[in-house]
Amino acid sequence: ATLQQMTSPGQPSIHSAFPKYFQALFTASKLHVFDLLQSRPGLDAAQVAQELKASVKGTECLLEACVSLGLLKSKGRKYENTALATRFLWSESPFSLHGYIQHCDSTVWPLFSHLESAVWEGTNQHEKAFGKKSKDIFQDSYYNSQEVKLRFMNAMHSIAKVTGAAVAKAFDLSSYKTACDLGGCTGAMAYEFAKAHPGLSVTVFDLPAVVEMSDHFHPLHTNSRVSFVAGDFFKDDLPKADLYILARILHDWPDEKVHVLLRKIADACAPGCGLLLSEIFLDEDRRGPSRGLLQALSMSEGKQRSSTEYSLLLKSHGFVTAHVRHTDNLLDAMLCIKV
Ligand code: SAM
Repeated sequence: ATLQQMTSPGQPSIHSAFPKYFQALFTASKLHVFDLLQSRPGLDAAQVAQELKASVKGTECLLEACVSLGLLKSKGRKYENTALATRFLWSESPFSLHGYIQHCDSTVWPLFSHLESAVWEGTNQHEKAFGKKSKDIFQDSYYNSQEVKLRFMNAMHSIAKVTGAAVAKAFDLSSYKTACDLGGCTGAMAYEFAKAHPGLSVTVFDLPAVVEMSDHFHPLHTNSRVSFVAGDFFKDDLPKADLYILARILHDWPDEKVHVLLRKIADACAPGCGLLLSEIFLDEDRRGPSRGLLQALSMSEGKQRSSTEYSLLLKSHGFVTAHVRHTDNLLDAMLCIKV
């Protein structure tokens, strides 16, 4: 909402504030300002500074900037979270984007600060930003350190919690009994599918480095219809299922690798099996949505595609597109059936 307000016509000068806006948001989030003010609303700048062990001057500037951006509100120089901050920035909220914001701060921002080189070279800027080359972004970069891995997984978890219910409810899946969420990460999306479809059991399939952390995200194993299997979806046998889910997977890979993965899924599928794809679908004229076109600038190995492009890739492996849904909640979805 704040972004929309910032980009609305009539406020052209505010565009120059974009980098400052995001740094204020990243810093307040990293310092847990929204967590502190959620548990103790009404603190003044000196009290917040004392809790954060930061300077009073710096803290006051940060709090005032957050008020101007609609993230905090102030009454008589005492501060509390706005409804927006309570919903999306407090790290304990069910829809918290805290993990995603930390990932943007630590990984996306450094990459985008080398955007000019990325455009010159047409490649990702991992080496410049982080000092090492990365061919497979997951195995060479995110999962090399426990800290970076957890940060990435937290980011995926927070986005999946915000978008998962809309994707899970996009289609009538009552004819399917078993699903396999390929690259299902923390299982956040799988839990939404299990919640939305009481007759469905979901296996999350992801790399061993990810699956070994599943207890960290679901310590209570709240749904016995969700289970985890470790493996590499380019090399290993896929768990048997009558519905395969690919959520935010294909955009990471070039067509050649997409074909390898789709061929494996097609081989595992009997006629009538489903494949549910969830991605940002580019408009057919490639004029939007800007969140997809901006994501493409990270110059990963993969690319952003329209629903027609995805349909054609799937068709070449015997899947016909049955339904396409724009969910209005960041991710779109497509249900395809194996013929
Ligand atoms: N599907 C999840 C979601 O929508 O929140 C996570 C999407 S994340 C962008 C991509 C996922 O694919 C990560 O969890 C990653 O570990 C997994 N992945 C990448 N390469 C893989 C491979 N070769 N085999 C299995 N999983 C892989």
